[in-house]
Amino acid sequence: FQFRNRRNMTDIPQEIDVLSEENEKLRYQVFCKTSGCTEVVSAVYAPCGHLINCSKCANALKYCPCCHTEVKKVIQVNLK
Ligand SMILES: [Zn+2]
Ligand SMILES: [Zn+2]
Repeated sequence: FQFRNRRNMTDIPQEIDVLSEENEKLRYQVFCKTSGCTEVVSAVYAPCGHLINCSKCANALKYCPCCHTEVKKVIQVNLK
C-alpha cells in the first residue's frame, strides 16, 4: 500500500501540489467536534492532549469527549 501511494505521488505531481495545499488549509481549520458547534478548534486537554474542541466547549467539559480522561487543564492554542 505504501509503495503504491508513493508512486502515485510522483506520477501526478501537479495534482498532489493542489491536494497538499488543500490539506494544509484543512490542517489549520479543524472544527470543534461538539455537534452543532461551528467554532474552530482552539483548546487542548491536559493531560490527554486531545485537540478536538473550541475553548468554549472545552471549558464546559469535565471529561475529554474523545478518550474520557478527566480534564485537569484546558490549554488555549493558537493555530494561526
Ligand atoms: Zn465548540
Ligand atoms: Zn482525550
